[in-house]
Amino acid sequence: MVDPIHPGEVWLVGAGPGDPELLTRKAERLIGEASVVFYDALVGPGVLDLARPGTRLVHVGKRSGRHSKDQKTIDKLIVEAALAGERVVRLKGGDPSIFGRSTEELTACRAAGVPVHICPGVTAASAAAAGLGASLTLRGLARKLVFLTAHAQAGDKLDIDWQAAADPQATLAVYMGKSSAQMLTVGLITAGLPGSTPVAMVENASLPDERRFTTRLDLLPLAARTALGDGPALLLIGEAMRVDEAVPAPLSYSAFSQRTMP
Ligand code: SAH
Repeated sequence: MVDPIHPGEVWLVGAGPGDPELLTRKAERLIGEASVVFYDALVGPGVLDLARPGTRLVHVGKRSGRHSKDQKTIDKLIVEAALAGERVVRLKGGDPSIFGRSTEELTACRAAGVPVHICPGVTAASAAAAGLGASLTLRGLARKLVFLTAHAQAGDKLDIDWQAAADPQATLAVYMGKSSAQMLTVGLITAGLPGSTPVAMVENASLPDERRFTTRLDLLPLAARTALGDGPALLLIGEAMRVDEAVPAPLSYSAFSQRTMP
């Protein structure tokens, strides 16, 4: 449905995992219609290139430990722009409804009487699975897909229901989990998940520098520490990630293996 952005409206738009070709056509159109785009740190430059010349591009990015603008400031900026009659796009990495703090922005807009809409996007877990050439679900073996955030404030413990998470029939898609790898391994194995459970780690999914690794749960802390760099990374844990047989691994380490881009 073609539904142009009206002045004074806000669209929360999923920018996908990074590759501009993974934007929806609707997202592309909305970015082109915006007079101002507020974008996150994880939104790639190829996506911002779709804005019209003259569109104001405002970085409101947050990366773990390096918060440039707090959530309340972002809420306020969006609402003020809409009340000033701008056509506002709030561009978020992946899908806005998955660990995207959308609720705060929806609530702020509604409280101010600003019409607000959502355009969904491809979430990082889907892009990571695509890069691995794997499925997130597996008939009979992985009947459940869990989106889990493992973001812990420095020094804090993870507040996760480990018994529920350690489901051998689930695939856990762990967002913001890189620095919590040790706690994830201990929590899941203590709750009964076998140490041999396959794990995939995908950094910069869908971007030219995508890197993919496979390991097992008990080796995850070592693998995350030694293999992952600075880019956003997704951890996928569960039997559906037993992908080594399907895709040859040209590079092997003793503890885990890396597959380079084809
Ligand atoms: N709304 C986003 C998630 C935001 S939380 C989505 O639906 O994808 C940010 C986390 O998402 C990162 O810490 C990382 O775990 C994951 N992530 C986002 N983009 C990614 C990418 N291109 N590759 C791997 N992980 C990514």
